[in-house]
Amino acid sequence: MSGWLGGLQVRGLDRGQTPVADLFCVVCRHHKRVTGRARVTEWLRANPIADHRAHCKPTTT
Ligand SMILES: [Zn+2]
Repeated sequence: MSGWLGGLQVRGLDRGQTPVADLFCVVCRHHKRVTGRARVTEWLRANPIADHRAHCKPTTT
């Protein structure tokens, strides 16, 4: 899958839980985790995939 950046996964959005959002990039193996409802909501609104894509540096291994 050329161009596949990885994935964005959000868990714990149900009432009473602490939301956790993970962004994983298969290109550069970047991983970012955001926890807390306010932070997750704000982070998602900022379009983290597009934001990461702007900074993504593919690793050469
Ligand atoms: Zn990346």
